[in-house]
Amino acid sequence: MTTDIDEPERFRTPAYLAVLDPTPSPASLQIGAETITTMIESACAGYPHEVCGLLIGSAHEERWQVHEARPVANLNQARASDRFQLDPAAYQQIDRELRNSALEIIGVYHSHPDCPAKPSPTDLESAWEGFLYPIISIHHGQHHEIRYWHLNDSGQAFQQIASTGSHHDQ
Ligand SMILES: [Zn+2]
Repeated sequence: MTTDIDEPERFRTPAYLAVLDPTPSPASLQIGAETITTMIESACAGYPHEVCGLLIGSAHEERWQVHEARPVANLNQARASDRFQLDPAAYQQIDRELRNSALEIIGVYHSHPDCPAKPSPTDLESAWEGFLYPIISIHHGQHHEIRYWHLNDSGQAFQQIASTGSHHDQ
């Protein structure tokens, strides 16, 4: 599950390579098996379109704890095969729901149909500092792999979180 799929040419262009910081992220991530399953199942169900959703949990410095993944509509119907646009109303609703809790929206996941689980220049344009960005690669409708990214200190590239500690209490 760690090998690259036959990736489209554009992922080897300077513009695409420029958004990847090769330094492994020192950040830590806790995410449960159920949450990962939710992201993978929604990504497979949406194939060949990109799906997206929000991550709910807590984040402190370089430490993310994901409690839940919530699928959200992709409003970009015109280019649903390679673009996503989160429904802002869904964002606001979840944000309101969490207002009096210890949890908050801490990230955005999306799928890459028949593309590697690497962020694109478009992903960089919409990325926020301090957010976690899982990318799920779907190959011919099947789950290929999932990688976890966040913006590096410069905010100009993504760093991949190398190790994932799963937990099962949530
Ligand atoms: Zn993307």
